[in-house]
Amino acid sequence: MPTDPDSDSPLQLLFLGTGTSTGLPLTPCLTLTQPYPAEFSSHLPLPAPNSSPAKGEYNPDGEWPDTIPCACCRAAVSPDVPEGWKNKRGNTSVIVRKRRAATQAADGEEEEEGEWRNVIVDVGKTFREQSARFFPRWGVKRIDAVILTHGHADAYYGLDDLREWCFRQNCVIPVFLNRETYETVAMSFPYLVDRKKASGGGDVPALRFHIIEDDADFEVEGIRVRALPVEHGIYFQDDERKPLICLGFMFDESIIYMSDVSEIPPATWERMMDRNIPDLSAMTTFNSTNISEQPSGYDSPNRPKESPPADSKPLPLKKKVPRPLPVLIIDSLWPLVRHSSHIHLPEALRIAMRLKPSITYLVDLVHPVSHYMWHELCASVRGENGKKGCQHPDDEQARELIGRFWNDKDVKTIEGKVKKWGGRVEPGWDGLVVEVNGDGGGEEGFEVIEGKGGSGPGLAM
Ligand SMILES: [Zn+2]
Ligand SMILES: [Zn+2]
Repeated sequence: MPTDPDSDSPLQLLFLGTGTSTGLPLTPCLTLTQPYPAEFSSHLPLPAPNSSPAKGEYNPDGEWPDTIPCACCRAAVSPDVPEGWKNKRGNTSVIVRKRRAATQAADGEEEEEGEWRNVIVDVGKTFREQSARFFPRWGVKRIDAVILTHGHADAYYGLDDLREWCFRQNCVIPVFLNRETYETVAMSFPYLVDRKKASGGGDVPALRFHIIEDDADFEVEGIRVRALPVEHGIYFQDDERKPLICLGFMFDESIIYMSDVSEIPPATWERMMDRNIPDLSAMTTFNSTNISEQPSGYDSPNRPKESPPADSKPLPLKKKVPRPLPVLIIDSLWPLVRHSSHIHLPEALRIAMRLKPSITYLVDLVHPVSHYMWHELCASVRGENGKKGCQHPDDEQARELIGRFWNDKDVKTIEGKVKKWGGRVEPGWDGLVVEVNGDGGGEEGFEVIEGKGGSGPGLAM
């Protein structure tokens, strides 16, 4: 049976999570309705003092959830907001995937499509619940590799939940990460890097850690990957201030994914603007002989075998680099307020205007701005009115937010450029599926498969 990647396979992108480190909704927002946190006013106008949300209290049999003052967290649990479920956000994470080569049916006549090989970027605190929510809908039946962006809880705390996948697949799951992240993982989960440190029954996931350089080009499961090191806030080591390096990634010259960023260094800009990932023969290919191998977290006599490396046979390089860049996924914590570890919307727009993608999705979103408000704000970036004037409970706050945004001093400096550009920018949402054609060609080079992973308010999840 052929196991090579299908060189004509589209590249699919499944949004497993689009929220920041906390995930949404935040439980205190659902119960502690008084007082309304004053700092929210720097993002959104406060509710009027006598409005029902402001004087609410937790009472599931009464006015709750209408009495929750945080519009975002209220919408996440309110049956009256049609797209309210889009405010349920797990830690930002995506699956990128390609099909294996087609297999010949038993009668030798029909070809069956090859199965998807799933590579997960980040398995954070919410990995278990998000995978239970979306894997069945997407038909994700296996996890072939994991790539970690950085050593924060929302990026790697779900590693332990890979245990059952390792057992069921009977193979070791490769994890690609930089040295700094590896050291953080080793400190948090000693038994994942050294099975002798396991206690109890000793059941631990079988992971093999592949340490990559911050500026590596490599291939995994038929997907060419370019690491894009960016700054994600700072930390102190021996009283020295250091930037925390987080890895963004370019997949197949078609998708740029940058989930956690406060600053992009010039060298990374060069790597992004180049967009020609070198010929595979010059790339690091990961197989059993040349990996930068760390002690595996699994060394029992029954240790499962690592599945054969997908990249042992290089694919022919597609020389055609899609222009423009089909998809950008970019951090945008808040519309207006800066954070020391994350960019805000004006900065995300500056980056998007330089990269000129066909479509930009915002991720790492957090309350109190609701999905509806993000949606309307993004419509205004395209010069559209969106759903202005509709009966949506957040419409008034959305209009005020849009007004604040375009009057902001920082936004004023780019207003002319943004209006001329009018690029398509959208808030991401958990469950979204985007497909990029094999060569990034076609009319737009990508297709958005809306709703495939969606769940309406009538569904339990
Ligand atoms: Zn909230
Ligand atoms: Zn982080």
